[in-house]
Amino acid sequence: MNISTQAVQIGLNWDQRTGAVTVPIYQTATFKHPGLGQSTGYDYSRSGNPTRQTLEEGIAALDHGARGFAYSSGMAAITNLLLLFRPGDHILVTEDLYGGTYRLFEQVFQQFGLEFSYLDTSDLEAVRNGIKANTRAVFVESLTNPLLKVADIREISRLCRSRGLLCIVDNTFLTPYLLRPLEQGADITVYSATKYLAGHNDTVAGLVVVKDPQLAEKVYFLQNSVGAVLGPQDSWLVIRGMKTLGVRLDRQQANAQKLAEWLKDNPQVARVYYPGLAEHPGHWLLKERARGFGAMLAFEVTDHGLVEQLLLKTRLISFAESLGGVETLITFPEQQTHADIKPETRARLGINNVLLRLSVGIEDADDLIEDLNQAFAG
Ligand SMILES: *Cc1c(COP(=O)(O)O)cnc(C)c1O
Repeated sequence: MNISTQAVQIGLNWDQRTGAVTVPIYQTATFKHPGLGQSTGYDYSRSGNPTRQTLEEGIAALDHGARGFAYSSGMAAITNLLLLFRPGDHILVTEDLYGGTYRLFEQVFQQFGLEFSYLDTSDLEAVRNGIKANTRAVFVESLTNPLLKVADIREISRLCRSRGLLCIVDNTFLTPYLLRPLEQGADITVYSATKYLAGHNDTVAGLVVVKDPQLAEKVYFLQNSVGAVLGPQDSWLVIRGMKTLGVRLDRQQANAQKLAEWLKDNPQVARVYYPGLAEHPGHWLLKERARGFGAMLAFEVTDHGLVEQLLLKTRLISFAESLGGVETLITFPEQQTHADIKPETRARLGINNVLLRLSVGIEDADDLIEDLNQAFAG
């Protein structure tokens, strides 16, 4: 079954009694026991709630994994996964990482004895050379932020398997609609569902999918023990968002391609990063492995003065962090999303004071171009 069909089916047959087409929001903390030593399958909502479970089963189905888990945010999901490791363990990580993940690793988990090193995971040789005796996992973003580097998940997974490492993929920017890392050999996917999966800039949520049932048991133990679960209302909102994932992304990608091409021809733009452009280093790999190129793009303007001008003068496009929703957003990574990254690292990566990032929404592409055009004109 195509993923778009599968997404629409999420929760459809839950309520056999009334035939409700959407899963009910089970706004309950606890569940009555039918008898001593008996359970309906639900005891307490931290351990399991039907609305959340519908979402968890839904994302597991879309990603072709054994089991899914829903958390109160993407960061809570990543936190839960890091609890699989012990002091002294080393994890190899994508270098132009989401700023919040970098902060979590460096400022929270490092003090508990986890060790991280950061490298260009689009360079397989670099990953191979980065493995140490205490390395336990590779944490890779399938498409990075903000420069949209593409990692070869199939090759990294193969390397991980041969060295006994877990391959964890943050697939937030591609979603299972564009790429299914577990099918390419990864062990675990993690999502900020706040972004494309929920898709409407209205909910903060995180999801994890685990391929192996035994490993999934461990993750369930951690989810229930730590308790950063997603509530039933927010679970319902993420399900509703996921039903339109395919149509939203088709439109968003088409818009992103148009905008990237328009920006490329703009004399006030020095450089465009979008994997849908043939000159982007990740273009061919994504073309071969994925359904599309996503809807994030970054560009450098020719003059720093244009940064503030664009952020403030765009009218349809909002100056805001986050991404993946139906509304087009523009942000300035150096001072916003990537402020916690060391300045020398930012400089090396190319996150500079003329770089802007767009999360392209579902508006009409010509209206977006017109908006940018008038903002560039000043
Ligand atoms: C936003 C984001 C996160 C964090 O998710 P939250 O839902 O904001 O906690 C993690 N990884 C990536 C790639 C993201 O874009």
